[in-house]
Amino acid sequence: MTKARFYSKALDKHFEVERIIGEFHGEEDGPVLVFFGGIHGNESSGVVALIEVMEEIKRLKPKIKGSIYAITGNMNSLQKEQRFEKEDLNRIWTKDRMRRLEKGTFAESELNADEKEQLELFKIGKEIFKKHAHQVYCIDLHTTSAPTVPFITLNDTLINRDFATKFPVPVIIGIEEFLVGPLLSWVMEIGYPSLAFEAGEHFSEESIKFHKAFVWLSLVHGGLISEKEAPEFGKHHLILAASNADHGRIFEVYHRKGVSPEENFEMKPGYANLQPVVKGEKLASNVDGDIISPENGRVFMPLYQKQGNDGFFLAREVAPFWLALSARLRKWKFETVLTWLPGVRRDQKEKHTLIVNKSVAKFLAVEIFHLLGYRTKVRLENELRFTKREYDVRGVAQRQ
Ligand SMILES: [Zn+2]
Repeated sequence: MTKARFYSKALDKHFEVERIIGEFHGEEDGPVLVFFGGIHGNESSGVVALIEVMEEIKRLKPKIKGSIYAITGNMNSLQKEQRFEKEDLNRIWTKDRMRRLEKGTFAESELNADEKEQLELFKIGKEIFKKHAHQVYCIDLHTTSAPTVPFITLNDTLINRDFATKFPVPVIIGIEEFLVGPLLSWVMEIGYPSLAFEAGEHFSEESIKFHKAFVWLSLVHGGLISEKEAPEFGKHHLILAASNADHGRIFEVYHRKGVSPEENFEMKPGYANLQPVVKGEKLASNVDGDIISPENGRVFMPLYQKQGNDGFFLAREVAPFWLALSARLRKWKFETVLTWLPGVRRDQKEKHTLIVNKSVAKFLAVEIFHLLGYRTKVRLENELRFTKREYDVRGVAQRQ
């Protein structure tokens, strides 16, 4: 599909968009920012925001250092106003699949509509990554089915944290433990910092406003455009800062309620994202009855749409003390000390994986691994495998 015509309910307006919404290269070499909008076809807000910001850049011609790309995600589903056609385009960037895409073993005829979108995005991404020697940041723009304050989600690496905490919105870490194959896991695997920004509810006009503000702030914080040359930088910062009471705070996701289509999951109405909940509170119901909150915390991403298999998550605030400690331990490579313990060893093939004997794991709190940036966890018969991102403390561009 070369062009998608889509409807923005928030603006009651039709738009036409191509895969590359905009591309700008400054005279001076520098960082590269790649924005994605509409990876979920029912989330047109990010696409509208990117169209508008790209037009503003064209008109205002600010001095750019580096390169900017704005890319449309699921064009087919965007046009059809659906989240996806056959498969969630934000869940198919798994390691196995990426290996096959790299090898080029997929025949286009055997791909479904969403996989075709992935193939196109993959090719564009590869080209961009190949072309630039500088640090590439990827930013994926989303919206949610429930009303929410704007927030950032990211893989918990120190470079990601550094970039994300420049924005006046709450930051959520630890979601990668629960989500398989989001687009950004591919980017992180290659070694580029990345984050997703959820602006608000799918059809709210505010979401577009917050997305636009976030894009401008990213261009400034990424070092591509100076604060002076970004139009209304102060206003953009203020509207994001005023949107929430949690900026500067980092929350960690620690629980997921997964749902299957057969269980008739229904979230209790009225939950806003990041709303505090208490242990025992009735959050949802399914064929088996009530689903209650197992602990005190914040309810995160409650499901208020038909498509999707994450019912809700629970998150809790990470105290600044732990964040500072975690940064320090990771810079010191404290995990080496862990491998001195009996029952903990480093995987010979994958050096960013620790293998922990289950009887030892009982005594070592999962929090210790989290603290050191080990996030994804695979349970084997007698062992647990904890893996962290290769590029935790340093980015790929700083590697040379
Ligand atoms: Zn989304």
